[in-house]
Amino acid sequence: MSTVCAVSTPLAEGGIAVIRISGEDAINAAGRVFTPFGDKSVSEMQGYTCAYGRVIDPATGETVDDAVLTVFRAPHSYTGEDTAEISCHGGVYVAKRVLRLCLENGCWQADRGEFTKRAFLNGKLSLTQAEAVMDTISARGEASLRSARLIREGRLFSRIDGIKQELVTLLGKLAAWVDYPEEELPEITSEELKASLYDACEKLSKVLREYDCGMVFRTGIDTVIAGKPNVGKSTLMNTLLGYERSIVTEAAGTTRDVIEETVKLGELELKLSDTAGIRETGDAVEKIGVSLARKRLADCALVIAVFDTSSPLDSEDRELLGYLRELNKKLIIVLNKSDLGSKVDASEFEKLNARILELSAKNGEGVSELTEAVSQLFGADEYDPASTVFANERQHRCAQEAYDALKQALAAAEAEETFDAVTVMTDLAASRLMELTGEKATEAVVDEVFSKFCVGK
Ligand code: GDP
Repeated sequence: MSTVCAVSTPLAEGGIAVIRISGEDAINAAGRVFTPFGDKSVSEMQGYTCAYGRVIDPATGETVDDAVLTVFRAPHSYTGEDTAEISCHGGVYVAKRVLRLCLENGCWQADRGEFTKRAFLNGKLSLTQAEAVMDTISARGEASLRSARLIREGRLFSRIDGIKQELVTLLGKLAAWVDYPEEELPEITSEELKASLYDACEKLSKVLREYDCGMVFRTGIDTVIAGKPNVGKSTLMNTLLGYERSIVTEAAGTTRDVIEETVKLGELELKLSDTAGIRETGDAVEKIGVSLARKRLADCALVIAVFDTSSPLDSEDRELLGYLRELNKKLIIVLNKSDLGSKVDASEFEKLNARILELSAKNGEGVSELTEAVSQLFGADEYDPASTVFANERQHRCAQEAYDALKQALAAAEAEETFDAVTVMTDLAASRLMELTGEKATEAVVDEVFSKFCVGK
């Protein structure tokens, strides 16, 4: 493989910048642009050692910067190849200048994620572990960081690989049967077959269930605060934010504001949007707001519907309630302005599958109950961040397809069909799991995965 280089630190001013070089010629290339102080030479440097010296342009003899060079010798490096890292001063220009020198002296510009891709291709990481590297970089909280670390440590890989191994063993036994069906002693009985398939289905189903909960931690919960004007939606948002809103974003193309904020409730992050009403209207401008609000309600994961209980419900409140009944979303009803006493009959909220909370957005009473309700609704209380859920939709889709195939294999086994149908579906399931871990991923899949990385990783 060619020798590639990239600036691995962000292109911004900082303490240091690191230019990473990886490939067969990495250490020689580094030696062409870097001269250690003293009588050391780069080519003699052992793996895991550094040298302090100068970056010098060999074409002009001009010193570009002082720097530290770190050498990693294959296979004991991130990529599994010879690697050199030049740590120079952290300026945008100086980093680009050192990079250019490397490019002029035998290196190619690395693609996005190329270092990690090489680590994968050299067997240093599974595909799931490589993906978790990106998640570690983008982690925004304790739970997502921990989950990414566990995947990097190989937890997801070994879990999926374990299920795959069971299927491969099963396929071996089925193959023996397919090849010698008339043998007196079958390799596997129908009962054993069903039990094995059932067991694999259960294990995959558990991983799939954990995914939904894990996603909530990773990406936050898309939440809409709904309610007619003046019920206290903005006040509630501000109370949740803990400060008066300073940044208000207006969704482009709308004439009515859709305000979006992110707020942390316990361990969960809520991406809040406060929408205009959903009431039918003849006003053309208002109609746009209404249809946008309805779309948001249809797309979100959680609705917090706010009602002002200091006065009786009116037709607009009831219209919203009717709409929510149809919507079938995770729903929390906030009976706001509890400090003013309630004039609302609780029976109005019957027949709604919702958590109902009294709250005062103004003085914050009831907010901890709201936090608790959100946490319970999304299973955050029982979620174990040490359980290794998938990091992304690609992994999820592979596991879902494997699960669907296994269900069909199980159905075929239960219908006492021939083992051929069972074999085909079990084989498909095993292939999907191998695609998940990267053992059998196509080049296109691998390219797609690494195209989402940043350059230099
Ligand atoms: P929105 O139109 O739904 O966003 O409503 P606002 O948040 O602008 O609130 C409308 C009015 O209700 C404001 O005067 C708020 O101060 C008041 N308000 C909001 N929440 C409460 C509450 O919990 N108690 C009381 N007493 N007033 C509230």
